[in-house]
Amino acid sequence: MAITPEQPKAAPSHRKAGRHRGEGQWAAGHLTPLNGNEQTKKDDDGLNVRTRIETIYAHRGFDSIDGADLRGRMRWWGLYTQRKPGIDGGKTAILEPEELDDEFFMLRVRIDGGRLTTDQLRVIGEVSQEFARGTADITDRQNIQLHWVRIEDVPEIWRRLEGVGLSTTEACGDTPRVILGSPVAGIAEDEIIDGTPAIEEIQRRVIGNKAFSNLPRKFKSAISGSPSLDVAHEINDISFVGVVHPEHGPGFDLWVGGGLSTNPKIGVRLGAWVPLEDVPEVYEGVISIFRDYGYRRLRNRARLKFLVADWGAERFREVLEREYLLRTLIDGPAPDQPVSRWRDHVGVHRQRDGRFYVGFAPRVGRVDGTTLTKIADLAQAHGSGRLRTTVEQKMIVLDVTEDQVESLVAGLEALDFQVNPSPFRRGTMACTGIEFCKLAIVETKARGAALIDELERRLPDFDEPITINVNGCPNACARIQTADIGLKGQLVLNDDGEQVEGFQVHLGGALGLDAGFGRKVRGLKVTSDELPDYVERVLTRYQAEREDDER
Ligand code: SF4
Repeated sequence: MAITPEQPKAAPSHRKAGRHRGEGQWAAGHLTPLNGNEQTKKDDDGLNVRTRIETIYAHRGFDSIDGADLRGRMRWWGLYTQRKPGIDGGKTAILEPEELDDEFFMLRVRIDGGRLTTDQLRVIGEVSQEFARGTADITDRQNIQLHWVRIEDVPEIWRRLEGVGLSTTEACGDTPRVILGSPVAGIAEDEIIDGTPAIEEIQRRVIGNKAFSNLPRKFKSAISGSPSLDVAHEINDISFVGVVHPEHGPGFDLWVGGGLSTNPKIGVRLGAWVPLEDVPEVYEGVISIFRDYGYRRLRNRARLKFLVADWGAERFREVLEREYLLRTLIDGPAPDQPVSRWRDHVGVHRQRDGRFYVGFAPRVGRVDGTTLTKIADLAQAHGSGRLRTTVEQKMIVLDVTEDQVESLVAGLEALDFQVNPSPFRRGTMACTGIEFCKLAIVETKARGAALIDELERRLPDFDEPITINVNGCPNACARIQTADIGLKGQLVLNDDGEQVEGFQVHLGGALGLDAGFGRKVRGLKVTSDELPDYVERVLTRYQAEREDDER
């Protein structure tokens, strides 16, 4: 039933083919590319660039790279040109893309489900040290990103990563991105259902499959059977959330159409219960709807959330069932609210097999290659060789016996990875920012790390869950709209009327318990230098004036 990019079908008669003609929907028979990105994808599948990298670009160097490959298709293999150093944020919107491009790349290693072995982590650490100037950031989508990568080294990096079962395939681009998974899948005492087999099957069926490598835009997905709701399911294009059906038992509640950036939307429930074995099929159905019906005319309307907003849950489910699954789905319940506002699994927790998992907090996800290999050594010595990354830029060592916990915690803390961190270390995230990102306006990682240190010094007794998310531009890579305090990077005026780096403030967002977007406080902007004073004031006043359990 699904449409393939090679053989699009005519619009079924029940659809008003002309109605969305202007949106570039393939299913409406509108196959002519309506913008440069669509033209690039039509000219050549992004996945095909790998051969050119291996046979041409890696040998002839950066200057040999075709422009459409450089700023388009290379993303299909996780490669993104990084920002030339020294260009200030005021120039971001003024300069042409080629003026911002450095000759080095960011390389994103996808870690589906956040599942890593110590061998894999060691290889990432070695690649970082040999080919990426020691850089490594854990992202809030469970990936690890390296910087300063030269095109000449990419084939060797792939050889090493793929040698241990890792990949960069479709880590960026208009593709099915990394599949988020509960970092405690298969081990947590309170788990409703383990989604790992579904993640593995989707990887096999979908990732690198040319039937799904030309989507209108990125497609983000999440699967978790944890009652802590630990994969930010509300803001993914598709999410499967563990629930217990009163008749059928454990399975997943299906959500679609979440996303941040422009027009942020909380995903909607389709009211359908999906058993574990059907998750890959339903995933394929939804991603096929996105491919076939998704809007391709304007990039800023091309995410699935816009289609879902126009159709509504009822019509979306009807199209999914009638045109793609060819059967009806079972109605099912909504997930329960989580009991805790922390859902990052930091700390020492008992597994259902009696062993323990130990979650720890780097500062704003920043690590380095040497340290990654040390973490791998520690995890090997104290556990079974399994680790996980989280969607809060944290890591977890699994399978630690009780007598090894203390020694592991001491080893991690000696590396400055805290197992019992302050709420500020635990709850602060930062995106890549101006150090490497071409879209950035302000610095984020160093700013976020300094903010943590300053708040720990000023508010040593503050002891409540708090999330502070720092973004370098109006995009939402660090999920600013869903933080207690969301900071959106922009240029602001200081007291002397000069333009300096600063932030627009959003207050009161959350995921999980009482999920919703923070409010942009009109006119509330702070300079980067004022940031610690501002956050301290907000938190002090909140503690003094809140009522009962008010967030
Ligand atoms: Fe770059 Fe903006 Fe995303 Fe930060 S939020 S990584 S600055 S695009």
